[in-house]
Amino acid sequence: KESTSEATVLTPSSQSPVRLNYNENALGMAPSAQRAASSSIAHSNRYPFAHLGKLQSLVAEHHKVSGDSILFTPGSSDAIRASILAHATPETQLVIPELTYGDGALYAGFYDLVIHKVPSSREDWSFKLEDMQQAVRNHAGPSIVYLVNPNNPTSTIVSSDALEAWVKNSRTDTLFIIDEAYGEFVNDETYRSADRLIVNGAGNVLVLKTFSKIHAMAGLRVGYAVGSAERLERVSHYVEEDSMTLSYPGVMAATASMQSPDFLAHSKHSNDESRAIYTAALDDLGWNYLPGQTNFVFHRISKPLKEFQASMKAHHILIGRAFPPADGWCRMSLGTPEEMRYVVAVLREMKAKGAV
Ligand code: PLP
Repeated sequence: KESTSEATVLTPSSQSPVRLNYNENALGMAPSAQRAASSSIAHSNRYPFAHLGKLQSLVAEHHKVSGDSILFTPGSSDAIRASILAHATPETQLVIPELTYGDGALYAGFYDLVIHKVPSSREDWSFKLEDMQQAVRNHAGPSIVYLVNPNNPTSTIVSSDALEAWVKNSRTDTLFIIDEAYGEFVNDETYRSADRLIVNGAGNVLVLKTFSKIHAMAGLRVGYAVGSAERLERVSHYVEEDSMTLSYPGVMAATASMQSPDFLAHSKHSNDESRAIYTAALDDLGWNYLPGQTNFVFHRISKPLKEFQASMKAHHILIGRAFPPADGWCRMSLGTPEEMRYVVAVLREMKAKGAV
């Protein structure tokens, strides 16, 4: 057993709260990545050109594609922006579920796309892929389908079989942007990365990945898109020149992290442990939660979110923002197991006092 599993003396403060609000990875970067980033500072008067090739080949190998099927961006947020901008025309619509990560609609709004939201169930926030297909069929012009899988804030997945079948039968003017920011945390054995569609020749799919989550590198801003060389060439016109997008420490840390399978396994394992600690407490409280596949849990709460946020903040715990229209729900990022034990102790204390 790791030391984090022992009873602990975590003492958060207003200066150093437990941060469960941004789906970050509380473990910190892999030690090898931290060393690589630190020592790169001394060389950061230079551009990192000479080191990009290595990172690109490691990432390409990971996805079983060639180097020209990878386009780096400063975080996957910028890949969302550039992918949408590269395909925006006055006739294009963006198709998204009602409750999903906001950046797709944000950028589609900037570039004046029509945004078609398919309804989500009020019970469990699930949506039907058939409704998205219908929206594409009903639209005369091109469609961009932005699908976050697993989804944020719900933490749930859509069926890989169904998604693959749709892509295979899709119109060529339908672009699929599959955002897999949290893909490495998934436990459901039926889940597959959509990168295999690209390996199998699909030209209308972009898979977006990030080093911000499983690699714990949110502050270093490294993300990328996987797609056919032709598709990425088009997107590349809307990001800085490939060799200029990333910082020297970002390139070096990402390269080291790609070669740290033990850290990645630890990151996943620790997240599983944190989820188990937290969902056991939710079970005790009788608060329903969705079957989470990520480093956060979407669950019901007994008080309005604003009140819950304030009481948690009084205990130095920062939690997720509101996700309208999901009133009465809270998105709790998973911290370290130690942090989650602290959170659970606070919740039990609040429950005993009738405060939740
Ligand atoms: N996509 C999803 C679904 C996210 O939740 C996030 C961040 O939380 C991002 C993309 C952006 O991440 P980054 O720009 O750090 O890669």
